[in-house]
Amino acid sequence: MNQLLPGFIGLAIGLLLGLLSYPAWRTTFRRWRDGRLTDILQRSDNLPVQLGNRYFRGINYLLNEQPDKALEVFLQLADVTPDTVDTHLALGNLFRRRGEMDNAIRCHQNIIENEELSDKTRQAATLELGEDYLRAGLLDRAEELFTSLADQKILTGVALQRLLEIFQQEKEWLHAAQAARQHEKISGESNHRLIAHFYCQLAEEQRALAATDQALELLDKAAAADPDCARISIIRAEMSADQKQYAQVIAYYRQALDIDANCFPLVIDALIEAYRNIDAAEDALQLIQDWLQQHSNTSAVIHLLSLCEQLDRMELLAEVLDKQMDEHPTAGKMYALLRLRESSADTADADIIGMLKPLLEKLLQRRDGYQCRICGLAGQTHHWHCPSCRHWDSTEPVSGSLGE
Ligand SMILES: [Zn+2]
Repeated sequence: MNQLLPGFIGLAIGLLLGLLSYPAWRTTFRRWRDGRLTDILQRSDNLPVQLGNRYFRGINYLLNEQPDKALEVFLQLADVTPDTVDTHLALGNLFRRRGEMDNAIRCHQNIIENEELSDKTRQAATLELGEDYLRAGLLDRAEELFTSLADQKILTGVALQRLLEIFQQEKEWLHAAQAARQHEKISGESNHRLIAHFYCQLAEEQRALAATDQALELLDKAAAADPDCARISIIRAEMSADQKQYAQVIAYYRQALDIDANCFPLVIDALIEAYRNIDAAEDALQLIQDWLQQHSNTSAVIHLLSLCEQLDRMELLAEVLDKQMDEHPTAGKMYALLRLRESSADTADADIIGMLKPLLEKLLQRRDGYQCRICGLAGQTHHWHCPSCRHWDSTEPVSGSLGE
């Protein structure tokens, strides 16, 4: 029974704290705490009385929401026997889940410092301490611990995963790329897209410093990691625009569209601008017409409207709008239709168009253009790295009647 005691107590603490996290259970547990728990523990004839009483006292402190006193009791018990270590690991993790980081850190440090414990147990506690530091935002300390584990080939996969998270939070993109490559080797999971984005981040930094050659070298490294990353072509297009090399701008943006059609709303303004800079607005018009043969982007229709107005080619808009409205009607396409019809409308229709048009304009101005497919974060800005869930390449154009 003595050997089972730590496990039993650990399970009890886990159950009790887990249930306490649900408000509906608190009342039930407070009633239960005052009566039945005492009876249950005291009736257990096989528990060593002194140890059982001390554990019970610790649990009672927890139930009375006095975690500091509970921690003191459990830390003293660690000196009794290494067998209590599982209870302490569980307790430390529970403190972390409750956001009581000082207590979680003390609990795990106490295990690491106990030389009676096996290396394996202390390494497990080191990993947990690293998680505590990470959760507490102590990134330097967490990085040190996880680097030490990874260097010693201890729990390497988890340690590298955590280092990858830390380097991204610290915007240490080169270190992130190195950790991602190491993690790839250990886990067998592909990190190619991640590595490409890390090199893109580095390239953007060099571009901001006007270090064009270094930026281009970093983009080559990104492409070596993942040639199907559309962002690489987009940055190359933007850098070509800096140099006023508009034919290259067009080629790179078209390459990005070939790789990922979701880039359309992101690149179309700059792409049309590049065509204008070489006096080829008609080519831009043709590109959008061709695009709409294969896709049904609202942004493509809106840009077609704009170009048709500028080039006095509204008949081209009429050709595609019927099909577009029939296949995939959206507020944006309806707006284009009203703009098409307003010049030829009779008085009654013109009144209706006059009412609907400003309404649709407001709707379109306020709509979210992009949304993260992982966490649902929506807004008008495109993010390569979602600021909410921190996934890469998860932001997509909003679909539906108000979207694409
Ligand atoms: Zn997200």
